[in-house]
Amino acid sequence: MQGKPFNIHHLFDFSRSDIQGISELAELALDLRWSWNHSSDQLWRELDQDLWQQTRNPWIILKTVSKDKLIEKLGDPAFQTKLTELIRLKGDLSTAPAWFQATHSQSTLNAVAYFSMEFMLSEALPIYVGGLGNVAGDQLKSASDLGVPVIGVGLLYQQGYFRQVIDTYGRQQALYSYNDPGQLPIVPLRLENGEWLRLKISLCGSEVWLRTWEVRVGRTRLYLLDSNDPANAPVHRAITNELYGGGPDMRIQQELVLGIGGWKLLAALDINPEVCHMNEGHAAFVVLARAGDFMRRNNCSFEDAMAVTRAGNIFTTHTAVAAGFDQFSVPLMEQYLAIYAQKELDIEFDHLMSLGRHDPANESEEFKMAYLAIRGSMTINGVSELHGSVSRQLFSSLFPRWPISEIPVGHVTNGVHMPTWDSEMADAIWTNACGKNRWRGELSTMSQSIADLSDETLWEFRQKSRGQLVDYTRNRLFRQLTLAGYPCSLIEYANHIFNPEVLTLAFARRFVPYKRTNLLLTDPYRLVKILRNPDFPVQLIIAGKAPPHDEPGKQLIQQWVNFIQDYQLQDHVVFLSDYDMLVTEMLVQGADVWLNTPKRPWEACGTSGMKVLVNGGLNLSELDGWWAEAYSPSVGWALGDGREHQDFGWDATEANELYELLENKVIPEFYTRNSNGIPVRWVERVRQSMAKLTPVFSANRTVRQYSEQYYIPAASRFNERIKGWSIRAIQRDLKNRWAEVAFRTLQIDNANDAYKFHISVWINGINPEYVKVELFADDLNGGAPMITPMFLQVERAADGAHIYLASINTKRPVGDFTPRVVPAYKGISVPLEDNHILWYR
Ligand SMILES: *Cc1c(COP(=O)(O)O)cnc(C)c1O
Repeated sequence: MQGKPFNIHHLFDFSRSDIQGISELAELALDLRWSWNHSSDQLWRELDQDLWQQTRNPWIILKTVSKDKLIEKLGDPAFQTKLTELIRLKGDLSTAPAWFQATHSQSTLNAVAYFSMEFMLSEALPIYVGGLGNVAGDQLKSASDLGVPVIGVGLLYQQGYFRQVIDTYGRQQALYSYNDPGQLPIVPLRLENGEWLRLKISLCGSEVWLRTWEVRVGRTRLYLLDSNDPANAPVHRAITNELYGGGPDMRIQQELVLGIGGWKLLAALDINPEVCHMNEGHAAFVVLARAGDFMRRNNCSFEDAMAVTRAGNIFTTHTAVAAGFDQFSVPLMEQYLAIYAQKELDIEFDHLMSLGRHDPANESEEFKMAYLAIRGSMTINGVSELHGSVSRQLFSSLFPRWPISEIPVGHVTNGVHMPTWDSEMADAIWTNACGKNRWRGELSTMSQSIADLSDETLWEFRQKSRGQLVDYTRNRLFRQLTLAGYPCSLIEYANHIFNPEVLTLAFARRFVPYKRTNLLLTDPYRLVKILRNPDFPVQLIIAGKAPPHDEPGKQLIQQWVNFIQDYQLQDHVVFLSDYDMLVTEMLVQGADVWLNTPKRPWEACGTSGMKVLVNGGLNLSELDGWWAEAYSPSVGWALGDGREHQDFGWDATEANELYELLENKVIPEFYTRNSNGIPVRWVERVRQSMAKLTPVFSANRTVRQYSEQYYIPAASRFNERIKGWSIRAIQRDLKNRWAEVAFRTLQIDNANDAYKFHISVWINGINPEYVKVELFADDLNGGAPMITPMFLQVERAADGAHIYLASINTKRPVGDFTPRVVPAYKGISVPLEDNHILWYR
């Protein structure tokens, strides 16, 4: 995957491509490593200071500055030296064995294809909305740091997500900027002969051309597809216009492009990933594409192909409520997939539909992408511990009669790519304490090195960080007011708002109901009193977009803007418009406290709060998502009682709790200083939060966990299964015979706290090696159940039944233990691939 050098003549017109040294500059400009490693910033700044300030996109600079300027700079020995040095470093980084090569050299894993509707890598490539893209982008970057062979697959949107303007009435206006591919840090994917790789997929009987693009992200690659090919009909060109735009019709086409087009793209590049990782159900059509491909290559049935290929598929769910699952109506599915089912998969349309239905036989039921993903995967995971357990509930009905604790959904808590979100100052502090390569391997010694930092160092760091945020806020607000058309006299005040010494809270997120973005406004007077306290003042920065057609969401924004105006709080509160990655970066680097008030358990994980950790910011958050597992009293503050509440009154209770936390805990701690002016308890909390939480909630940990617990096992499972796929015959046999499997007699001998169970089971001719009998007992504390295997004692007793035996030593009542029969054959994942189960009672 190291990637060949670019052919320079494909990148620039003739006048530019012959400049000596331009290839090296292009190599740097087209590697998104610059989004987290700032060693090349100086070069871009030297080439065009203004453009760099405005775009932070080296590729635009390279394409824009004059030829003379390029020649002049490339002729400058200092510039040349720096460039040569950076190219050498880049070469070293991309070839040196990284964590994966050093730790898992024996693994059979060659490639993981990571499918996602959005990737948040840089503001220079705006193809994301929020959290989901953040997870994808940050994990791709960490995979690069760690050398894990992950390849991203996504879509290139002509417009991405909307840009937000707040007008003088506080109303959100949506603008759609054009993503000019010539100025994005991406290049067309070209074949050996220089031809642009274009792919053809079939939609409703029409051929649709997809263009392909490559994004370099350090050692990893992201491949993007778009349909804006002049050879397409206008309606097809528009498929990839807008992220999450349009209705279900647009969405299903986008998801077909992603899943089916994405798989074709990999095939065209001769990439055969053992593992496909679906980031949310949007990507689930890849399950079909992968199976279809396998069918053709191996000349087998669709079901056989599914049984083999699913062994390499991994599904990560991000949804916390059933209503959140992507679903498509029967007619829509029929329109887009009826022909595909017959022609490509050789199955009836109803068969395909059954893969996305809760009840496969219910012909009126819509198609849920998450169900397809589940039926096409070998592992499913949620994105925090709490979300794992919420997801086990959500999906439990697919596994009737199975205990919730055994619903096959695990969890890998998300993390963020720390080098992307740390400030220059934070980087310096961490480099000093933990070294330059700290995010490229294991993180075991990190906590101690950070815990050793002095109060003075930490407080100075925090003071400066807040100061920079205040400067940024003033500048940004000035620009925002100018653009919104405020009169000059009003705009001027932006230069004087806020105070770098004042406790600074930030609240930035999408304005959707479950985030409860206006919880702080429950009692406006009380909030005003908190902000305006003359002895212990507080300042607050708000940012966030409401979905473009969501009127209630937009009103919530307006409510904030009105609040600021009505109470003349311009000096204490700002609403920054157009929340995006750059705004996040500034906020998480400078804020003292990051607020988050979602309605539990809707925040599957949440990642924005993790971004403050490395920068010494603290979290005050609902005990939901990641914070439910990260929180302890020494690292931050928790809202809520760690339970779900349906009643409406609960929001008011939590609002009150939020005010009380601020009034009695957060604010006093910040303003209680020692004789050197240092808030010692606050600084201790910062230290604990940085030391304890940063390593754990880094994408480094997340990607290592995915690698070891999911990718590597999935690759070997897939390779195992591809060798012999008799599994389908057994599956069918069990299906035919299961209905008559029955318990016969149970005898329990009881002696000195030990029970001896004998049970006879009629297994109806099933090979006894394909089932197991066990004793099940719930854990009394809600933990993992106690499962005791029973041993086959007598095969075919007089009545033809099998007799199984087990002894247990326990003080628990015998009634706690229930015998059961479950499938168990050839590496099958039970109950995911075979959900049969028979209980004694
Ligand atoms: C990190 C980030 C998110 C995710 O934030 P959560 O509120 O934690 O889900 C969303 N949008 C942007 C711009 C981000 O940087």
